[in-house]
Order: sequence, then structure tokens, then C-alpha cells
Amino acid sequence: MVVCGVVQGVGFRPHVYRLATEEALSGFIGNDTDGVTIEIEGPAPRVESFLARLQAEKPPLARIDSIVVRELSPIGDAGFRIVASEVLGRVSTGIPADAATCADCLRELLDPNDRRYRYPFLNCTNCGPRFTITRRIPYDRPQTSMARFTMCAECQAEYDDPLNRRFHAQPNACWVCGPRVWMLSADGFGIEVEDPVTACVDRLMAGEIVAIKGVGGFHLGVDATNEDAVMRLRERKHRYGKPLAVMVKDVEAARAVCTMTAAEEALLLTSARSIVLARKREGSGIAGSVAPGVPWMGLFLPYAPLQHLLFADDRVKALVMTSANLSEEPIAIDNDEALARLGQIADAFLMHDREILQRCDDSVAAVVDGAPQLIRRARGFVPLAVELAPDSQQGSQLDAPPLLAVGGHLKNVFALARGRFVYQSQHLGDLENLTGLEFFRESLAHMMHTFEIEPETVVHDLHPGYLSTTWAKEWARERGLRTIAVQHHHAHVAGCMAEHGLRGPVIGLALDGTGYGTDGKIWGGEVLIARLDGFERFAQLEYVPMPGGDAAVKEPWRMAFSALHAAGFDVESEQMLRLLGAEPNEARVMKRMIDREINSPMTSSLGRLFDAVAAVVLNRRVVDYEAQAAIELEGIAVDEPDRFEQGDYVPELHEAEEGSGSEAVIRTGKMWKAVLDDLWRGVPARRIAAQFHAGIAGGFLNAAGNLRIETDINTVALSGGCMHNRRLARLLRTGLEEEGFTVLQHRNVSPGDGGLSYGQAVVGAARLENESIKDDQRL
Ligand SMILES: [Zn+2]
Ligand SMILES: [Zn+2]
Ligand SMILES: [Zn+2]
Repeated sequence: MVVCGVVQGVGFRPHVYRLATEEALSGFIGNDTDGVTIEIEGPAPRVESFLARLQAEKPPLARIDSIVVRELSPIGDAGFRIVASEVLGRVSTGIPADAATCADCLRELLDPNDRRYRYPFLNCTNCGPRFTITRRIPYDRPQTSMARFTMCAECQAEYDDPLNRRFHAQPNACWVCGPRVWMLSADGFGIEVEDPVTACVDRLMAGEIVAIKGVGGFHLGVDATNEDAVMRLRERKHRYGKPLAVMVKDVEAARAVCTMTAAEEALLLTSARSIVLARKREGSGIAGSVAPGVPWMGLFLPYAPLQHLLFADDRVKALVMTSANLSEEPIAIDNDEALARLGQIADAFLMHDREILQRCDDSVAAVVDGAPQLIRRARGFVPLAVELAPDSQQGSQLDAPPLLAVGGHLKNVFALARGRFVYQSQHLGDLENLTGLEFFRESLAHMMHTFEIEPETVVHDLHPGYLSTTWAKEWARERGLRTIAVQHHHAHVAGCMAEHGLRGPVIGLALDGTGYGTDGKIWGGEVLIARLDGFERFAQLEYVPMPGGDAAVKEPWRMAFSALHAAGFDVESEQMLRLLGAEPNEARVMKRMIDREINSPMTSSLGRLFDAVAAVVLNRRVVDYEAQAAIELEGIAVDEPDRFEQGDYVPELHEAEEGSGSEAVIRTGKMWKAVLDDLWRGVPARRIAAQFHAGIAGGFLNAAGNLRIETDINTVALSGGCMHNRRLARLLRTGLEEEGFTVLQHRNVSPGDGGLSYGQAVVGAARLENESIKDDQRL
């Protein structure tokens, strides 16, 4: 039989060995290119029992996607054995994702009688680094950064014993034979200490910033309860507003600093150990500057033995552990690179000599509308494939020819697809400069090599100015490949459809920050009729100018000025200037830019509307990080009710002008009047923020309702970066379901631009499939 899924490097062969031995069956097991091949021989009832237990008792990190069984005539084999890996042809199983230290290893780590007591690199087949230490397939020790460490006799014996937890655990190591840690000063000189881990804690407790080498890169660690230390980190990192992730010892410690729901606790404990957004607890002792301006904080648990050792010291309560990079640069992984780049930020370094070969940030997740949703898909998930769900409508499976989808501009993630598998890269950050592009190239080369995918088609965004687009066209030209351009919001919605195995048509609500439209304008508040291979635009938020283009994203007051101007308010009045925190001459310049259409692209973005409302309601004139104003607006409303009586906050649906490219337009003039009236009547900001959320949901609900009357389509896919907004996601889902709609939400792929390449791959595959169908008909 052939078993496919995540079955290599996760202790699957010893599992099968044990079962076969217990059932007294003979035969063999070996890794091969498509998974594992098992041959067993014995009486039928015992073979059946084996098959049942194969699935039921599988190791924790294994995932079985399919078991194909074929009957053979008995050959009288005696005993069961594990045969050597054979690598032929293409690989669809590949390298597993990095996994957090398992409970057995943790017990050994803290057991003074164990030979690996306090050894910072212990692991087994159920845990440890994988993707981040692998140079190429097959996933075997010589292909990893463990190659330079020769196992001692004891480690080798464990590695060779099929009944040992460390049988073929590629990174297996111990004090005698494996990697080690040491301390360096900020200028790179060795610091002589008896125990580097204790020395690191000494420094952290003294308020110092320590760069700590981890699994997918360096973290900058600092005592999260020390306000001065956190502020110093912010100043040195030039990162002022954006919340910092905090690592705590365990779930109990998490409960002490945040109010955790059961779903959030479960999310915290997955083997990916993602950063989980949770509600802050007042007076928990965490420094206020860790996550200013929002009621949540990003929490995660130790996932590497070295991190567990830091928390084994009773002095450590909570550590800020933020990716060691400057703003959106790729995370540092190499020791020398870290010294060069972080020397100005860190007071000291906790180094080790297990080389990180693939950069991989921490993943970020949140419980959105009752279910876990990935916000940043990286360590612990990459390079596992996201499957194209089997078609639930027509029974035919979307089958992608080898293709590359390059993703978008911000929060870039690319995807390689083949057959029903889409392999998304780790989060690569913003593709705004050459460092970002270098990381993109490096990672693409590695993934193409790993999965042996040679793309025949390159799918890119419609935006001609994106670095990803120009790169894609250039790369395709050099190789003589074809390219397919996909509209940004179509990709968002198609990704959501494909996660649920739908080809459409569905009603797609693409609620987003920025995406290039087919009319050259900036879209982001769109109601689409979407199929996998194409879409029509039914309705949109009304266009408003973005005075200054990108400057309007960084300075939300500009969006407020523009939106209020468009809604007919006298934006140069004294009252308005006070509201916007603007000087008269600033306002004059802004108005001139808008009236004369100077660097003021038109946008229908819901993200920008959130920014504009936040600018007015929260006096948030400028932002320090993307979507800050919108996030704060959601944050301030956190304890307010979901629903309200007043209808004035609901934007109105109007028929669109002839030739505008959509049938209907969602107008916000009345909504703005309601917001300002309430503001001037002294209604608290938190209440206005909540009513605004409810109003927006109502506006899009109306649009979906109208579209259903026209088309009879009853399924709505929710996508775009605004779906990270938990209040909005909940309001839309419940509102639509009350109206009898079937609602699709993203689960394994981010609804934001981190998920864009998945949607691009889907659209590309669907278009190529159409062409091949046409070709067939021609023949
Ligand atoms: Zn383990
Ligand atoms: Zn050893
Ligand atoms: Zn987007």
C-alpha cells in the first residue's frame, strides 16, 4: 500500500514497524517519492486490524491524506523491516514543518537525571526543527545543517533503533555531540560565563536587550514587565506603535496576563506555537508600551528547548520576543549577519551553532468569529501544502499545472502549485526594496528545488507598478514562460472559494486595504459575482480621492479630509480643522490636490474608510504601522454591543452611473453625517466606533441581498484584509446567515495579502483548465 500525506520525518516508519510487529505481520516499509510504501503479509483479520490502527494510532505530527491498498500474492516473507529511502521522480511529501518541543522532550530537558538535562537542542521524531534546517530533499541528516555534527555512539544507537523515539530523528543531538550556545557582547566579543542561559537571564532581568537565536531567526528579547527596557527596544528598533509579541512560560502564565477563551488556549498549544492575539488583563504587570492603544496583545509559548530553559528560571515571567529585524526587513538568521545588523539594537547575543538555513518568522493567528484564523502563515506551517479542496459542486478536482503565483506587494508570500497542492512560502515581508526581493528569490529557489516544481506559468497581480509584477514578467520572459495577470480582489475571493471547494458563482465581498482595479483605480470595498476563472463587479464603495497617494495611508487625517469633502462638508471651516487636527494651509493644499486631481488616485477601499473614521473619532492623525487606525477603532469598541437600532450609520445602496463599471454604489454621505452629529453631541467614541462597524456590515448586507434578488446566488465568500477585523467578520457572518445566506470564510489561508498568492494560483489554474477544455473540444 502507498500512504500519502505528512508521513516522512515524523516517526511514521517506526509507528508502522511497531504495529506490524505487534500484529505479527511480515513485510517492509520504506520512504519513497510519494509518501511511504508498505508491504505486509499475514492472516486477513490481522491485516485489517493493522490498517485500522495505522490511522487511529498515528504519531502526533503525521497527517494521512490517502491510503491506496493493492493486493499482492503472498511471498512468504519473514519478519518486518525498514528499508532505505529511495528517491526517484517527483516528491509530494517533502519536508515537514518545524514543531514545538514535545512533552517527552520537555520532561527530559528538566530532569536532572537525564543525559540531556538542560541540553538546549534536544528533539525527537515528534518535535524539533525541520524546514528551517533543511538545505534540500530528501529530508535526511546530511541535507540539513546538522550534517556537521557527527552523532555520538549513544545518539547513533537511538537513531538506529526502530523502537526508539529518536529513530531517524534527523536533528538528534546531545551534550556530547551536538550544537552549543554561547554569549557575545554587542560588538561580537565572547563573554566568558559558566552557563550562557543563566547569564542571558541575568542580563534580561537587568533590563538589557538580548538578541536570542531561535528556530527560524533571531528574536530580540527583553523583560516584558520592564517599561524602560521595552521603551529602549522600541527606540532602538524605530518601532513606536506596533504591538510587540510576548512569550510566557505556559497556558497558566498566559491566563495571568490575558483573558483566554478555550479556543485561544487551544490555538496557543498547537505544535506551530503561533503568536495568538488575546485580550489583555488589566494590572497584569506587562509594560503598557508592549501593546499600546489596543485591548489585545500577541502571546506565544516557548517552542524551542533554549526558550524553555529561559523560562525554567523563576525570575522570568514574560519576555518580549520580537523578530530581530529593522521594520519590514527580513528576519536575521546568520550569526555574522545578526551581529552586523543588530549590534546597534542588542546589548548582547545568545548565539548557537546550529545553522538556520531557511528564514521563518513566527506565525500569527487569532480566534475570529469563533474559529482559528491565520494572520501570518510561517513557522510551523511552511512548507506544508494547502490543498485545493475537492470540488463540492461538480465533483471535478481543480488540477493545477506547475505554476508560480508571486503574490502582492505588502506582506508578500508566493505560492507554487502542482496538481491539487499549493505550497505557500513563509511570510516574506514587504517587497518594497532589494532586501525583500533577495529574500523572495532565495526562498523561491529553495522551494522550487524542494518540491521539484518547474513553473510553466507565472501568475501575478494586475498592478503594473508592483515589484512582484515587474519581477514576474522579467523572470517569465527569461524562461519563455507565459504570464497571467489576476485582479487583486478576485484573487482574495477565489482563494476563499477554493478553500471550500467551490467554483462559483458566489457573491464575493472583498473588503480590503489596497488593490489595483481593472479600471486603474484602487479598489477595496467590492461586491463581486465571482467564479474561479473570472468575476463581474456588482457594487463598490463610492470612490474618494486619496490625496498624496501612499501618504494618505500613513496620514489617515487626509482620508478623513477627502471623505468629508466628498460628502459635501465644508472641510475648511474652523470646526472641521479642529476635528481633523489640521492647519488652514495644510487644508488648502489638500483641497487643491483633490480639486486639481494632483497625485490623488481614486479609491473604493474599505480599509481607507476605516482609517478616515478613526482619524475623526480617535484623533488619529498619523499612524506608525499599517492599518493602525482601523485596528484601534475595532479595539475601542471591544466591549460595546454588536447591533443598534439607528439606520443612519448604514451606507446607502444606489444605482451606479452608466459606464462606471459596476451596477451599484455604496454611498457614505449620510453615514458621515451621523458620525459627526454623534461626535458633537458627545456620544462616546467607543459607541460611535461600534455603530460604524454595524453600519458598514449593514451596507454590505444590503448589497448582497440585492445581488441575490438579481442572480439567485445564495453563497457569500468573505475575504480581504478587513476580515482580520473580528467585529466586522462576526457582524457580516451572523447578519448574512440570518438572511439565509451560506457564508464562506478563510481558515487555512490568510484573508489578507498573505493569502493572495493562494488565490492567484487558483485563478491561474482555473483559467488554464478552461483553455485545455477548449483545446480538447477543438480536437
Ligand atoms: Zn520530542
Ligand atoms: Zn550525542
Ligand atoms: Zn488585499
